[in-house]
Parts: sequence; structure tokens; C-alpha cells
Amino acid sequence: MPENHAKVDGARVLADLNALRAIGAYKTGVHRPTFSEPHWHSLEWLAHKLAEASLAAEIDGIGNVLGTSAKAGPKLVAGSHLESQNFAGWLDGPLGVVYALEAARVINADPTIGAVEVAAWCDEEGHFGQFLGSRSYVGAVTDEEIDAARDRSSERSMRQALQDAGLAGRPRVKAEIGRHIGYIEAHIEQGLVLERSGLKIGVVTSIVGIWQYRITFTGEQNHAGTTRMKDRKDPGLALARLCVELDERFPRASGPRTVWTTGRIALDPGAPSIIPGRAEMLFQIRDDNPEVIENLERLLRDSAAEVAARSRCSVEVTRLRSGVPALMDAGFQDAIEKASAVVAGGRSTRMPSGAGHDAQILATIMPAGMLFVPSIGGISHHWSENTEEADIITGAEVFVEACRRLLAP
Ligand SMILES: [Zn+2]
Repeated sequence: MPENHAKVDGARVLADLNALRAIGAYKTGVHRPTFSEPHWHSLEWLAHKLAEASLAAEIDGIGNVLGTSAKAGPKLVAGSHLESQNFAGWLDGPLGVVYALEAARVINADPTIGAVEVAAWCDEEGHFGQFLGSRSYVGAVTDEEIDAARDRSSERSMRQALQDAGLAGRPRVKAEIGRHIGYIEAHIEQGLVLERSGLKIGVVTSIVGIWQYRITFTGEQNHAGTTRMKDRKDPGLALARLCVELDERFPRASGPRTVWTTGRIALDPGAPSIIPGRAEMLFQIRDDNPEVIENLERLLRDSAAEVAARSRCSVEVTRLRSGVPALMDAGFQDAIEKASAVVAGGRSTRMPSGAGHDAQILATIMPAGMLFVPSIGGISHHWSENTEEADIITGAEVFVEACRRLLAP
């Protein structure tokens, strides 16, 4: 039986992505932080495109752009985000939004199946908070949280930013329970798995949880010239020892894709002629298996205690953040994999996402699925981020085909 392929217009997809790249262009990427002028223009650009695609477009009170359909039948909501990290790439976010727009254009014109609705979630990149747009949509953001939110670069308050954008006082749109059969998002991989294996589509199985720790060693602050080595209680040295210890011990207890990072080290007071009195590090672990993390956390605490004892310091390990891995829906994974088989020669692999995405928030209230396209050199959060045009088009075809399969009666 011939497959009834939805027809994607690859040139239109590339033209849309390039139109967004021109809004806040920086080298070959973009500088489009949340509620900057270019970001606002990109939201208006999308609202205009949604209207052209016969969707009712709305920018709500937190800066989410939503395009809804009056068509009967099952509905998917699809999207991603339009703001960027500072001086970053052109595809992180826009790819998923443009795929969703293309899916709406292709699928909503087909009277035999349901509809795709489009969303651009505000501030996925966390200029003001954590997933504020998608969390607002699922009902997980309070007004107090918005009152307290500030731009991490400019210190402008979120309330001021909303006012400047003309959004103050507008209602925030919440998910209508039961309206959607699920949420689907496409994104660049931002890693090397697909490129290294020559594959075109990543079928996301889960989005990792992030666990974060503050580890503080306390020793004895003293003179760097007169304090003999054997008399020192140097917490900076203890911290360095812990980093080496974790590097040796973690691989034996971690899963195949566990990652861990020391993101910040601070010595107090931090002067060349003073043995520090205190040393602090911020440490992060990401994995999609809470059992693995439990073991690693135990190892972290044991190692820190051992190193502290050896270094004649005390140590405190504080968990700052617990991750909740988000599982992608099995039916959505199957639909994406089958779509890859039909339109991408089966060049797909199932893989977890090591980065956070709005899909993990939507997954708390409805089935969710994600697909990845390859990133050249695995580069992202940098202006040189890129994907081959042919891969962008293949991704769009798989995305629309997956939507069609999910919506088909
Ligand atoms: Zn993104």
C-alpha cells in the first residue's frame, strides 16, 4: 500500500529559518535574548506566519506565542523557542518552531486528519528563570515567581520586560486539559552522536535530569609564606584532590551517558599570599536514571569525606537541585522511528537528551516526543552552530510524517 506522505516544502522551511536568522543576526548566528528587541520581532514574525497558516495567533502574558486551530479532530501541539543564548546559534529553538509551523501548513490542509497547533515557549534559554514559558502553560509558574524574575545579564525585572513588550496585564494561556493528544518538538542534537554515526534522526527516549551540588571545604586561613607545609589545612588543595578523585571513581559507577562537571571553583579569600580558609565548588551530574545518580551521590559524599579527612579540613556537601528525568512517550517514539524509516531510510537511533528542553515540561501533563537532527561538529550555544541544509529538510520531512502518523485516524 503506498504511503500517503504529507508534503513538506524544504525551500520554505529554509527560507523561514533564514528569515529568523536575520532578526538579531550576529556573525552566522543570532543574539536574541529573551524580551530583547530582536526577540520581540521574532515573536511578531511568528504570529504573522501563524495567521498566514490559518491559525489563530496570540502572544500571551508571559511571551508565549500560540497558534490554535479551529479544525475538528485530534490535535497535537508542536514547537520550541525563539530566544537565543547570548551571541549564539541560529537553529537552537527556531528549528523546532519552524518545523511546527511547516507541519501546521501541511497537515491542517488535509481534511482526513487532525490538526497541528504551534507554540513558541518563552525563555527556554533561562535569561529570566527556568522554562518560564512552558511552565506557565502547564500551570507551574506563580505570579510571585514572575515578580522575582530578573534578566541574568541586564538585571531588568521580568515585570519591566513584560511592560516594555506591551504584555503587562495580558492573561497567561494555560493548557486546556484533553485538548491535545500530545506535544512534539524537534531540536538540533547539540552533540556528536548523530554526526559520528552518520545518522539523520535521533529519536529521543528521555530528557536527563540535572542534579547540582555545592561542596564546601573549610580549613585554616593563614600566611602563605610562614606556614610550613606540614602545618597547613588547605581547603583549596582538598577541593583539587576531590576533583581528581571523582574523575577516577565516577566512571566505575556511572551509566553509559552519565556526565559530570565542576562548573565553578572559588577560593576564599582568593589571594596569592593567603592559604584559603574556604574552598567551594559547584558540581553537576546529568543522567536519565535516578538509581545511577543515587550511587554517584553516595560516592560523591564518601569521596568528599575521605578527602577532607586526608586534608585535615571539614566538608559540607549540599544538594542544590534534584533532577527529574522526563520519559518520552513510547507511542511518540514509535511514530518518529517509523517516520524515519519511511522518509529517511531508517537512518535513526534512539537516544536520551543530555540538554534540557520544553518537552520535559510538557511531558508533565501530556504524552511528549522529541526528535533530533545532526549538529555539525556537535557545536551549539555558539554563533557557529549549524546543520547541513539537506539534514534540516530531512528532519522536517520526518517531523511532519511523524505528526501525520500520530494524528491519523
Ligand atoms: Zn533550545
